[in-house]
Amino acid sequence: MTVIDGKALAERVQSELKTVVASMPIQPGLVAILVGDDPASKIYVSGKEKDAAKIGIKSEIVRLPETITEVELLETVEKYNQDSNWHGIIVQLPLPKHINEERVLMKISPEKDVDGFHPTNMGLLWSGHPLMLPSTPAGIMEMLKAYNVEIEGKNALVIGRSNIVGKPIAQLLLMANATVTIAHSRTKNLLELVKNADILVVAIGQDRFIKSGDVKPGAVVIDVGMNRDAAGKLHGDVDFNSVKDVASLITPVPGGVGLMTRTMLMKQTVEAAKRALNV
Ligand code: NDP
Repeated sequence: MTVIDGKALAERVQSELKTVVASMPIQPGLVAILVGDDPASKIYVSGKEKDAAKIGIKSEIVRLPETITEVELLETVEKYNQDSNWHGIIVQLPLPKHINEERVLMKISPEKDVDGFHPTNMGLLWSGHPLMLPSTPAGIMEMLKAYNVEIEGKNALVIGRSNIVGKPIAQLLLMANATVTIAHSRTKNLLELVKNADILVVAIGQDRFIKSGDVKPGAVVIDVGMNRDAAGKLHGDVDFNSVKDVASLITPVPGGVGLMTRTMLMKQTVEAAKRALNV
């Protein structure tokens, strides 16, 4: 069994990106729009700022009050859409209840939508011609590639069907020629499907839901889940301590998918800047 080292891989990708950025005639720019005072959102956004600085990406946090109207927020997004100094725009979710998240996400220019949540980017992905990928699935594919996981012809099971993780990772695995099954809370024979999966991606938000007895021996197990217990300790959707003895390759939580997710956001920003330059 090998434990995927998300930290080492993220650092490697970051250092590659730093080299790319240093050689570019312009500095890639990432703007994060933060509305209100949600403590978790503040932490995420400042993490993104730190990641950007490490790589040499210019970043700005636009802090807007909780009371901002939807129209004002849409105007702010449009301002950055039009400003060629900025190549990536993220609007940190969740937004206050009086603002329609979908309308705001749709306002981001698809070319600058580094989170990959715009319906145009989702459609491009599902049509097999992705422009911007959501970071978590992009990071998972990078991990599978780095660890030379053979995907073609394998049975891949994705548990979870969210727009940000489950659906896009299923499509990326399909594009890599896996035979893909997507399971969710209404799936009836879940454990049977798990037992048959060569590649198992779990993104459900249920603390240590998948146990060692469920998993096919030798399977590649990617755990996206981030669940905090009463003591504040982070756990995945997979019971790492037991499943690691059955899997051939497994991601830990923390130290796995999360770190790659952050790094892939930076990669998308650099890619967007390169596209803006036509290189
Ligand atoms: P969502 O809540 O949007 O989706 C959860 C999905 O899991 C749904 O499709 C749901 O089914 C399915 N599900 C829930 N319970 C079960 C169950 N018992 N059996 C089968 N399927 C189930 O979650 P996200 O995709 O946003 O996130 C999933 C997890 O990944 C969370 O823990 C989140 O914190 C974490 N996460 C981690 C990231 C990282 O960087 N490491 C990034 C993004 C998320 P249904 O559709 O039927 O309701």
